[in-house]
Amino acid sequence: MRIYHLAAECYPIAKIGGLGDVVGALPKYQVKAGLQAAVVLPHYDRKFVHENKFDVVFRATNLFAGVRQDFEVWKESTDTLGFELYLIHIPGLLDRPEVYSYPDENEQFIAYQLAFLDWINWSQQSPDIIHCHDHHAGLIPFVLKYSAIYTRLANTPTVFTIHNGQYHGAFGYNKFKYLPEVDMRYAGLLDWAGAINPLASAVRCCSAYTTVSPSYMDELSWQSNGLEKLFQMERYRGVGIVNGIDSQVWDPAVDPMIPGKYSAKSFKKGKGDNKKELCKRFNLDPELPLISFIGRLVNDKGAELLAEAINRSISENPGKVNFLVLGTGDKVIERSIENLVPYQPDHYRTFIGYNEELSHLIYAGSDFLLMPSRVEPCGLNQLYSLRYGTVPMVHRTGGLRDTVIDFGDEGGYGICFDQTSVNDICYSVGRAITLYADKKHLDSLRTRMMELDFSWDRSAQQYIELYQRLINNI
Ligand code: ADP
Repeated sequence: MRIYHLAAECYPIAKIGGLGDVVGALPKYQVKAGLQAAVVLPHYDRKFVHENKFDVVFRATNLFAGVRQDFEVWKESTDTLGFELYLIHIPGLLDRPEVYSYPDENEQFIAYQLAFLDWINWSQQSPDIIHCHDHHAGLIPFVLKYSAIYTRLANTPTVFTIHNGQYHGAFGYNKFKYLPEVDMRYAGLLDWAGAINPLASAVRCCSAYTTVSPSYMDELSWQSNGLEKLFQMERYRGVGIVNGIDSQVWDPAVDPMIPGKYSAKSFKKGKGDNKKELCKRFNLDPELPLISFIGRLVNDKGAELLAEAINRSISENPGKVNFLVLGTGDKVIERSIENLVPYQPDHYRTFIGYNEELSHLIYAGSDFLLMPSRVEPCGLNQLYSLRYGTVPMVHRTGGLRDTVIDFGDEGGYGICFDQTSVNDICYSVGRAITLYADKKHLDSLRTRMMELDFSWDRSAQQYIELYQRLINNI
């Protein structure tokens, strides 16, 4: 079975968040399960691309808004990732360092999708499934079905996975000219609220759509940034499949980014060594419970509440708890996080920026990981923290609801709260401090959480079953 995954991100080439982790891991596990899985990314001018060898496997010219556009398809030649990697290279459009945020982003992603389709069309390839991730690849299901140029491929099943339903990639009809000629009787399938909406179009036109947890699939019907009606109508077609983690990259027993190695059977020394290293780096007392936050500093993550909640927690529990925040995002939130440092000089540290290596040390060296997210389609941070024996403190939403059970409930291991609010965060911090004081209980929870299986093997199998159903038309 030959699958092409299309997405804007893929670890380690280009990762901004969880989408990158998933697209860097799922194909690897599909290959392990016997599939021919390949990833097709836009070409980015980034470290991985410079440090690895690529061959040009296809070169052509197409028409983009009536203008001739040259493009190439590059293939990574050593198979270093465990799956085939292809890059769509378009001089002047797809040859830049950043993944997002260019003013001509819509043109970039449209050109990427059309070049991919032209490549497989002209080179007479017949994939069994085209798996599109998020709105950056959301026009493919429509174009495949309703553009005569791709008639040969029109019956190829398409799967569309929503990693974040808040972002739709919508744009105005002034950009319609960038699309190929389509059957205008069906052009309404591109539209939502008077704009071309790639996410809405993909949900309507794909063979099957999924999202990254069952709870998030339900939530989309009442919280999807204007697409609620669509998801209410299409709910019956959707499947929620919880993400896995790449247990080769995220394994405290062998992780090269942490000094202390450990496993569920023996974690005290290794985890302790990581905490010492982390606290040394940030000049914090390793004897106190360390609560960390890692993530994009945006409202969806509840990040605008962090400064107030941390300030209040430290003030209400003097000398009893430390906090560390790693993140980047909204400049106003970044400033609020940084501005607190001089007010809590002994118990609070921050690192504003993106740092993969530091994130591994924080998962391994912290006692608790705070996730007050308002929206969390799946969430990977809590899965990494479980794997590293770090108690997740989560708002019960989306994938957090599906993967974390409160330690007060039967079989539980985490700390859960019901609202993204300063009060709920502070109350949970109090519970964390009490739990930390009961070392025996904490250690038993650590063993329990580290033994949980959130590896991709199980989730990858659910995708394979879905592909098989589509190919066999059941
Ligand atoms: P989202 O995709 O919404 O950002 P996820 O929980 O799905 O959230 O994935 C977040 C991923 O990004 C995790 O791998 C997390 O460790 C990583 N991450 C987020 N912010 C940073 C940062 N500042 N430095 C390093 N890694 C980060």
